[in-house]
Amino acid sequence: MEKNIKTFILTTFLCITCFAIKNQSVYAFSEDVNLNLLIENKENQKELKSKIEKLHQDIEAKTENIDNKKQDNIQAEVVSVSFVEKSELNSSDYLINEVKTIEKEKLELEKQLEENKVEGAKLEKSIEEDEKKYLKENNLSFKAGIWPVPSYNQISSPFGYRIHPITGERKFHRGIDVPAPQNTEIVSSDDGIVIFSGVQNGYGNVVKLKHFDGKKTVYAHNTFNVAKEGDIVKQGQVIAKVGTTGNSTGNHLHFETIIDEKNINPLDAVNK
Ligand SMILES: [Zn+2]
Repeated sequence: MEKNIKTFILTTFLCITCFAIKNQSVYAFSEDVNLNLLIENKENQKELKSKIEKLHQDIEAKTENIDNKKQDNIQAEVVSVSFVEKSELNSSDYLINEVKTIEKEKLELEKQLEENKVEGAKLEKSIEEDEKKYLKENNLSFKAGIWPVPSYNQISSPFGYRIHPITGERKFHRGIDVPAPQNTEIVSSDDGIVIFSGVQNGYGNVVKLKHFDGKKTVYAHNTFNVAKEGDIVKQGQVIAKVGTTGNSTGNHLHFETIIDEKNINPLDAVNK
């Protein structure tokens, strides 16, 4: 009897452990699948947008052509109705029909784009929910990312209050500075969405990412940005190259981590 109880307890314990391990890998797996689907979805959106733009330009050019032909016909009519070439009128009709066909095609693509956007938003939400579940189960408020400048680990200026190297004022440093040679690759600390890629006062060329666990990261003073606004980036993907643009005294990455709109020490959010 006692043996049976022991076996029962052991089996239950094993079942619970197996379930927990399986559940975690299910999250990671579904998240990875969804992330790949989201990347594909954004690529499709880009392609559809450029096709729609091309059709739009085509319609504009053809409409202008129709207007010109109409103008020619009116002028011809003023001279003498009989001189209006029949083929001229027909070619204008032909163009009008062509424009109608292209407009139909454009409308169809616009519908597809709308559907794609809805699908993309759903995937994004689903990834965020998987992350939330993971954080809750592991009692975390965010996930630690990876170091953003592989093989350059020195910090020339830490997070917090410091004397600013240019102004000489005591100022709050919102991130950490990592010196590295110009054009060293800067990688995404975690999977996420590019919410800004461009030039900003002081920051120079800067990339801002929003991650699926809610944290944001900022990469500044870049020579140039590789990632474009709206891109989905994976952890470790090259997003920019080290530089000294903006208010900067030498080649380095200025790296920030933001949780709930507050800058935290980035060292607390990376596995160094
Ligand atoms: Zn800095």
